Amino acid sequence: MTSEKTCPKCKGKKIIVGNCECNPEWRSSDGGDQYDDCQCEPDIDCPQCQGKGYIE
Ligand SMILES: [Zn+2]
Repeated sequence: MTSEKTCPKCKGKKIIVGNCECNPEWRSSDGGDQYDDCQCEPDIDCPQCQGKGYIE
């Protein structure tokens, strides 16, 4: 028997995917073909299960 259960916050994925925000106003015209109108936060270890994917 185990009391481990899948973490409800990350659903067992162990990480929280960073939010992406997009705003056309961030697009700069001097970046060539590189558009930078979206900014994403980096993925982080799930704070609820400490990156384990389950809750003990
Ligand atoms: Zn988690």
